[in-house]
This record gives sequence, C-alpha cells and structure tokens, in this order.
Amino acid sequence: MKHFRFFKIPLHWQILFAIASAAVFGVYFPTQYKFTPDSFETFRIETEEFNSFEIGDLEHMISDAPRSKADFFVAAETYTKKALLNSQKTEIIKKTRYNPAVSRIEWFGVIFLRALKMIIIPLILSSIISGIANINTAEDLGRISLKTILYYLSSSTIAILIGLGFVNLLKPGVGVELNLSEDVSQIEFATSSFFDTLLNIVPDNIFKAFAAQDMLAVIFFAILFGFFITKIAAKQRELLTNFFNATNDVMMKMTMFIIRFTPLGVFGIVAKTIADNAEQLPQMLQGLGMYSLTVFLGLVVHMFVMLPLFLYLSSKANPFKVLKAMRTALLTAFSTSSSAATISVTLHGVQNNCGVSNKVSGFSIPLGSTVNMDGTALYEGVVALFIAQAYGIDLTLADQVIVLITALLASIGAAGVPMAGLIMTSVVLSAVGLPLEGIGLILSVDKILDMFRTTVNVWSDSCGAVIIAKSEGEQLNV
Ligand code: ASP
Repeated sequence: MKHFRFFKIPLHWQILFAIASAAVFGVYFPTQYKFTPDSFETFRIETEEFNSFEIGDLEHMISDAPRSKADFFVAAETYTKKALLNSQKTEIIKKTRYNPAVSRIEWFGVIFLRALKMIIIPLILSSIISGIANINTAEDLGRISLKTILYYLSSSTIAILIGLGFVNLLKPGVGVELNLSEDVSQIEFATSSFFDTLLNIVPDNIFKAFAAQDMLAVIFFAILFGFFITKIAAKQRELLTNFFNATNDVMMKMTMFIIRFTPLGVFGIVAKTIADNAEQLPQMLQGLGMYSLTVFLGLVVHMFVMLPLFLYLSSKANPFKVLKAMRTALLTAFSTSSSAATISVTLHGVQNNCGVSNKVSGFSIPLGSTVNMDGTALYEGVVALFIAQAYGIDLTLADQVIVLITALLASIGAAGVPMAGLIMTSVVLSAVGLPLEGIGLILSVDKILDMFRTTVNVWSDSCGAVIIAKSEGEQLNV
C-alpha cells in the first residue's frame, strides 16, 4: 500500500500544508472585477427600481478587461455617480467578481462547509440530549451549567480586559485618516436588543428553529428534552437514552468521515478568502497595521498565555497537550471563520483526544460555540476604542466599563458564523455614542481578523470543557 503513504501524513500537517498552499494560490490568482453581459443583466434587474438610468451607464464596462477592485471602482466613477456606486458596492462586488482559477477549486470549500453545516443540528441535538440524559440528578445538571456559565463569563471578561489594555497602550486609532473609511450602509447591523435575544431562547416553533439553525433555541429545547428523559419510567428512559447515545455515536462517526476531507475543504475556503482579500493585504500591513496588530497581539496573549495559565491553575491540565489534542479543530476554526461550523470537529477533539465525557462536552461545546466567544469579545472592545481614538473622542473610565459590559453582551449575542462579530460592534458603539460609520475604517481587514478571533473562540470553548470535566473529577488524557 505504498502509494497511499501520503495519507499517512498526520491530518494537521495536511491541513497546514493546505492553508499554506491555498495562501500562495490566492495571492497568485487575486480576484479581479468585471461585468459580463449576464452579470450586468442580473445586477440591472435586481437594482432596477433604484436608479435604472445611471446603472445603465455602467453597461459600457462590459467590454473592459478585468481590473483590481480599486481600479474597477475608479473606472466606474467615470460612468456614474460615486454615491450610487457606494450604495451598491456590496452588490456590484458580488456581481463583478471574476476569478476563473479560484472558481475551479472553491467548490471543495463549498461542499466541505455544507457537510459541516449539515450535521450541526442532529449533532447538537443528540450530543446534548444524550449528555443530559446521562447526568444523574438535577443538582448535577445545575452544578455543571453553573460552572460552564461562570467559566464563559470570566474568560470573556479577561479577554476584553486584555484587548482594552493593548488598545489603550498602543493607541492604534490616533491619527488614522477618516477619509479612507468604507461605506457601511450595506451592513445590516444588529437591531434586536439583548432582552429580545433572551426571549428568543424559547422557540415558538422548534422546527423553525432547526431550519434557521437558531442555536440557542435548539440548545434550550435539547436540554429540556434530555432533562425530562430522566423523569420518565425506567423502561422508556432506557430506550430513549440508548437511542440518543446511539444517534450521537453515528453523528460522531459522520464527523470523523467529514474531518478526513478537511485539507481539501480548507484549501478551497482559504484560497478564495486570500484571493478575494489579496488587494487588502498590503493595507492590513500599512494603514490598518497598528489596529490589526493590536487585535492580533491581544488574541495571541489571551490564547497562548492567559487561557493556558487559567487551564493549568484551575485544572492542572497540560496546556500543550490540550493544544495538540485540539489542533484540527483550531485549524478548522481558523479556515472556516465559524465556531458553529466547527462544532463537530471541536466535539470530536474534546471527547476523543482530551477524553472529556459526553456529559460535560455534549452540553458545553454547542453552547460555547454561540455564547462563549473570547476572541470576539476582545475584538469588540478594541474596535470601540480604536474608533473613538480615530474620531478624537475621549472615552472616560466609566465609558470603558460600558464598553466592557456591552462587548461581553455582544460576544454572547454574536452567532458563530463569519463576520458576526462585525455586525455586533454596533451594539458596543451605540452604547457609548460612537459613530457607526467608524466601522468603515476596519471593514477591509475584518475577514482576515475573523479567522484569528474564531480560533480563539474555539480554543476557549475547548479549555472550558477540560476545566469543567476535571473539576467534575473526570480522568482525562491531557
Ligand atoms: N466568526 C466568529 C465565530 O464564528 C464570530 C465573529 O465574527 O467574531 O466564532
């Protein structure tokens, strides 16, 4: 079986290799922009009622060669008003994206992400229901939940404090040119209040919640279902517990099967991300370099110093071993920018590699993927202060306390999907009266920073599961 030796390369090396080669691929084939007759036609139809006359002028660009994003918009300005272009920017970018090389391979990533998303709901249901049904008493359930929530709140608060420390120290926003800001009118900012989020935890229609992948509602239903399994007659209880244990085993096997394709999937996702953002990379290193560095440093300190210390001091687990056990999950989080899509891989790492019971991880990992986002929390705090500094607005200590609280709420409210953190920044900015347009300053580098903060989000969930399992007296491999 010599020719299959390639597949003996450990999975994390395959993924790392995929990320590195995808980065090279993406830089080599950067995305360009051009209208084709078809894409122009759909753009015209979709935006017709907006301003068909001026959109019609853009038709002259159909015969142009593909251009970089910046050049494309400069050229478009000769045909139509800048205001119109700005208001339709997202749509135009979507319709004019042109990258034949990346189009040929991006489907690897699309299929991989679809497969990961496909198993989220059945996996969450079976892992929570079987986890809770295996918890012996209501006190056990209460104790584990309390520990989990305490861990989430404290680790995210520490993350925000680290971020605020760095942004106050490095002052990345001072002197930033406001006219480089991008238009944010296309972003749909968070509108529901924290209270609404709490209300929506109770679903009015569980099937709607499944279909919408409304995590908190699904988790709530699964906890109740699991809990009431423990309250029924022994025979039925055994039947249902066995059923959900078995379903969970099947879901974990499916996860292992999908994980094998991670290198291919990651290659497709990262190549597309890098190709689409290659133009912004120099900007990340120049104008927004200080801002990106501040977020990055905060994330690195939280990931490699704070959480390992927390892990070691509170549970005596070996942080290196936990890191090693979780490497596939962390690389998947990095590549997909989605804690939710990574749930199955995280659960697999925590259970199979660290040895955490389903009782603890089945509940804490799905919940953590939506509620516990240390990387996002840290980033929210940095964004608020960065924008304040850029606009020359002084935030008092009291304001910074409000930033801390709202950043925590925003990270709890953010869904585990790409760019969710960006949308939630509006919650923090509004709380201290900062201009929402400020978000335009950080838009261009957000995709890349999202990859790093998602990794920290998943790392914190993993550390939490280990800490809670150890505190419950479980014997782990780490
Ligand atoms: N993408 C992040 C996650 O899934 C959320 C964010 O945008 O900060 O964890």
